[in-house]
Amino acid sequence: MTDHRLRKIVIVGGGTAGWMTAAALGRFLKDGRTQVTLVESEEIGTIGVGESTIPQINIFNRMLGLDENEFVRRTMATFKLAIDFVDWKQIGHRYYHPFGPYGLDMEGVSFHAYWLRLQAMGEAADLTEYSLQALASAQSKFMRANGQRNSPLGTLSHAYHIDAALYARMLRDYAEARAVRRQEGRIVEVHQRAEDGFVEAVTLESGQRVEGDLFIDCSGFRGLLIEQTLKTGFEDWSHWLLNDRAVAVPCELGGSRQPVTRATARPAGWQWRIPLQHRLGNGYAFSSAHISEDEATADLLANLDGAPLRDPFILRFTAGRRKKSWNKNVVAIGLSAGFMEPLESQSIHLIQVGIARLLAMFPDRRFLSPDIDRYNRTMQFEYETIRDFLILHFHATRRNDTPYWDYLREMPIPDYLAEKIAVFQSYGRVFRENEELFTDTSWFAVMVGQGLEPRGHDPMADVMPDDELRAGMDNIHAVIAKAADVMPDHMRFIADNCAAI
Ligand SMILES: Cc1cc2nc3c(=O)[nH]c(=O)nc-3n(C[C@H](O)[C@H](O)[C@H](O)COP(=O)(O)OP(=O)(O)OC[C@H]3O[C@@H](n4cnc5c(N)ncnc54)[C@H](O)[C@@H]3O)c2cc1C
Repeated sequence: MTDHRLRKIVIVGGGTAGWMTAAALGRFLKDGRTQVTLVESEEIGTIGVGESTIPQINIFNRMLGLDENEFVRRTMATFKLAIDFVDWKQIGHRYYHPFGPYGLDMEGVSFHAYWLRLQAMGEAADLTEYSLQALASAQSKFMRANGQRNSPLGTLSHAYHIDAALYARMLRDYAEARAVRRQEGRIVEVHQRAEDGFVEAVTLESGQRVEGDLFIDCSGFRGLLIEQTLKTGFEDWSHWLLNDRAVAVPCELGGSRQPVTRATARPAGWQWRIPLQHRLGNGYAFSSAHISEDEATADLLANLDGAPLRDPFILRFTAGRRKKSWNKNVVAIGLSAGFMEPLESQSIHLIQVGIARLLAMFPDRRFLSPDIDRYNRTMQFEYETIRDFLILHFHATRRNDTPYWDYLREMPIPDYLAEKIAVFQSYGRVFRENEELFTDTSWFAVMVGQGLEPRGHDPMADVMPDDELRAGMDNIHAVIAKAADVMPDHMRFIADNCAAI
């Protein structure tokens, strides 16, 4: 029988995407018959942002067998239970998008429906009070799920704020310990096979040639192989996601260190604030058609909670995705595959999905196309459903204070999002399509938070008598308040378990 197995895999790029991919391949290709080489250039460097994560990163870290406390210490991490959205619906308004459910479904009817009914009766508390993650965020509390049954403390899910460069460093150690070879050097030439255009080698500035059967393009926005070489094409979504620049700057610690990423809407974009153990990460993602780089930089510097630790730096991007993530024998993972907006911290997750799907559709040297087509369709679905969730935040707003928000409020939106909004606006229902990343809770949190108002609630919620509804909702409210009471302070928890400094 012919042996079609891959003999050599080359990962191009050593940012978060490159080292996550290298770590995963090191973990699974442990028979040593496939050599994995990662090429990176210190001179080019990495993007240097990407600090806020979502709970799915735990799946990846567990798959590698990383110890959580060590991960937190080595990446100077803090915990994250929610995103704190400030001034999005309108100036002066605030809501949380928590990493966990609201309340409890009762009698087969969603909590959301009961909350909308109670709200219509004028008796509902703010949504924050019915979510342990949201309430703990507001109170600056944190603990890990304790496995307790019948308590929201049993299933608390969390993510992190990390120093992405330190995470890449940790994964590099992990990968190199599992036979991944690191090759320093700038790639100056890419060689394709004459007969089918497959990439067969790259040449470094030093003249060294690195050959491979499969190439994983983790070269960042430039898409060295997937775009510059294979001309795969890019789907531009910047008419929906206007932000095409970000100015970023770390600063000294100051202000609160709640377990949240704060996203504050600004006149021509939004500002992030990410607490780490040793500093705050900050940035202003903005639309260059609505504010200049200098103005955005000045605006950011005027709104920091501590002294800047370096000069601000500008990042330029276009929202969209590569038409195919996998083309011939090149798989694009990370920014080379696409980038939308940092708003919901989903980019590292998309790296993880790209890796997981690659492992699920792992090729041999025949590169059979049905599996490649399948890979591309699933990645397209991931990107598009996340894109629509992002657009929701910008479109469903009452802000009318600048041309930026006026455009976003009035613009035509994708059909999938339009349907989600229409369904919500009728009976307040939310639905999750197949395995899309964001859950019903996420869609509900943001739809309510951004000020969408349904015409009514699920009629099934009317089956429960008023008194029973009040008692059930009061009980949920009380259980959540009690659970938050027993949680320790966020920074106290870190000091006791995983302090880096
Ligand atoms: C403003 C902004 C904010 C973000 N915030 C978040 C966030 O909060 N959460 C999140 O999950 N994600 C975030 N992201 C995305 C996140 O930063 C990226 O997904 C992540 O850093 C992965 O980047 P990468 O590894 O694909 O690319 P890069 O970090 O750009 O790495 C590219 C690598 O390729 C190498 N390379 C390139 N060309 C060559 C060459 N010719 N020869 C050799 N090597 C080469 C470089 O040296 C480098 O090692 C953000 C992105 C932006 C733009």
